[in-house]
Amino acid sequence: STIPQKWNFGAGPAMIPRPVLERAQAEFLNYEDTGVSLMELSHRSETYENLNNRAQQQLRQLLSIPENYKILFMQGGGHTQFAAVVYNLIAWRHHQNKAKTNNKPTSDHWKDIPVDYIVTGAWSAKAVEEAKRLGANARVICDAKKSLGAFTGIPAEETWLTSDPEGPTRKADKEAGQTPAYLYYCDNETVNGVEFSFVPSMHDPEVPLVCDMSSNILSRPVDVSKFGVIYAGAQKNIGPAGVSVVIIRDDLLQTSEEKDGLSPVPLMLDYKTMVKNNSLYNTPPMFAIYMSSLVFEWLLDPKAQRIQDGEKEADKSIQQDLVGVQAAAARNARKAGKLYKALQESKLYRIVVTDEKSRSKMNVPFRISTADKLDPHAVSDKKKDEALEAAFVAQAEAKGLLQLAGHRSVGGIRASIYNAMPEEGVDVLIDFLKEFEKQNA
Ligand code: PLP
Repeated sequence: STIPQKWNFGAGPAMIPRPVLERAQAEFLNYEDTGVSLMELSHRSETYENLNNRAQQQLRQLLSIPENYKILFMQGGGHTQFAAVVYNLIAWRHHQNKAKTNNKPTSDHWKDIPVDYIVTGAWSAKAVEEAKRLGANARVICDAKKSLGAFTGIPAEETWLTSDPEGPTRKADKEAGQTPAYLYYCDNETVNGVEFSFVPSMHDPEVPLVCDMSSNILSRPVDVSKFGVIYAGAQKNIGPAGVSVVIIRDDLLQTSEEKDGLSPVPLMLDYKTMVKNNSLYNTPPMFAIYMSSLVFEWLLDPKAQRIQDGEKEADKSIQQDLVGVQAAAARNARKAGKLYKALQESKLYRIVVTDEKSRSKMNVPFRISTADKLDPHAVSDKKKDEALEAAFVAQAEAKGLLQLAGHRSVGGIRASIYNAMPEEGVDVLIDFLKEFEKQNA
């Protein structure tokens, strides 16, 4: 059976395609005729090395990752990458600065190398906090909450502090020899449901883009060549928690080291160490990487995603020749499109993200409001609304629609509809939305 009995709308750990789980179950006790489980193999064995290389190759194919980019499998989740990018890219910029001054000593203080952040939700906010905590000169060059009053969209790039190449911030940086180490953003804010519909392009081309794609990687094609570093924790769109994928342009691996006076990068965070050892510096999270590889294989299979959507295969409106992330993107646009439409058309539900072009196709947060939607001055009874939200989540759960509560920091309702969510799951949710509204009209 390819259809799960329950529909899991959790934001992560999230659904894994049913056929992948079944395949893993079948291979659980005897991996590739080794007579043992994959978990019992040596990470130095040829069998595991082949798996490690295959997983990288599959990801490279899926995202058309150019040859001058390295693929790493690291541990510690997204939070560890918040710190890793600070250490690694400041060390890279320090090396660049030294080369520019013909190896004359440059400042070894982190504070003299700024790092820039775009904050569009809870996760980019956490990333900048970590950079500050570590002692970096982290500058928020766009704060969506400040500009918009809440995390409900993405301010136009023209309004960011680095946009104007002749603007005061950039000019002053250049004159002081302080080109930022990187420009950081989060492509899809899992908690807030805000997703970029564009890749930032108005910053200094010498400043590499660093992007957290934890919750939308593999949901659509991406031009990797525009980025310095892309990273993603696996537990949303890739596989189980425990592994993070890092994609890094190889020139960024030329970094200053301890002997250059800079604080050393902890080995487990050091991209250079990971690259040198093909992500086998220490014992890797083998099972998580194995599961990820099965998910990559599922995405690459020209039929698997259509089978996931069951009877929809015969639907002529679906482009049958799409594969990989192109197929995923088409499915995700359809799934998100019909869910937002249903919410928009209802009188009871309110989509949180008001900026339409920044609405996430992966995480759809919404609220219940009993106030008249057409009357902008109508006041809602907050207590009543929250009680209805709690009833919604409980009744949904009883019907097998799981984990629809919003993130604990924001409340409300959130439906996460990653690649593994079949279109039928979204249809079932929409039916439930309508039924609940009718009962509570
Ligand atoms: N970044 C994004 C976009 C996330 O959604 C999450 C987790 O939900 C994280 C980072 C943190 O990931 P982890 O829990 O793997 O540290």
